[in-house]
Amino acid sequence: MNPDVAALLAVQEDDLRTYDLEDRLDALAPRLGALEKDRKRAEDAQAQAKQQVEGEEQRQREVQDRLRQHREMRDKSEALLGQVTSPREAAAAMAQIDQAKRFIADEERDVDTLSHRLTELRKSVIEGEKAVKEIERVQHETRASLDADRAALQKELTDVQAQRNKKAQGVSRSLLQRYDRIRSKRRSIALFPLRGQSCAHCDTAIPVQRRSTMAATGATELCEGCGVLLYAAE
Ligand SMILES: [Zn+2]
Repeated sequence: MNPDVAALLAVQEDDLRTYDLEDRLDALAPRLGALEKDRKRAEDAQAQAKQQVEGEEQRQREVQDRLRQHREMRDKSEALLGQVTSPREAAAAMAQIDQAKRFIADEERDVDTLSHRLTELRKSVIEGEKAVKEIERVQHETRASLDADRAALQKELTDVQAQRNKKAQGVSRSLLQRYDRIRSKRRSIALFPLRGQSCAHCDTAIPVQRRSTMAATGATELCEGCGVLLYAAE
């Protein structure tokens, strides 16, 4: 094999490692993004539960106020009933007492329902707080591990690129430029061998004349089918 091509193949290997390292670096960011979404969702649920608690507490206070008023009304009417002098006044006081008692029964039921509901809601607020804390803990750990991963990948990337640049000095300038032009468009393998009579990448047949020149001189050729750089392997 042409030594220039052999040197370029070594460069290409480093380039492929570079792409892989870059992809792995890019893949780190979404992991944090997903956790951030989880946290946001848990916080929103938490805020909503808190708001519900506040709303129900407000309702409970209102019902309790009404209950107190109706109990007072009942007590007053009962006191009045002991002082009435006519059946008509007695009937009016009784009617007031009955009405107040109906309100009181309804409101006592409401207070009961609301306090059950508040117990449940407060529980879900506490659970929500725990969920948010847990996500934050995981997020913190993940961030630390991602930072470590990122640093390791970046170090590797720097090393590979330094090696690559050193190896690239062993490739003729014109071949390297040709290869880099194709590689920048593909971001993948750019230099392929001939496989039999064809391009090993796309199987387009290469005319015999060009093949024999490639074999004889070690020259590289562009594949007309897919645009990669071809070399004769033997
Ligand atoms: Zn091809």
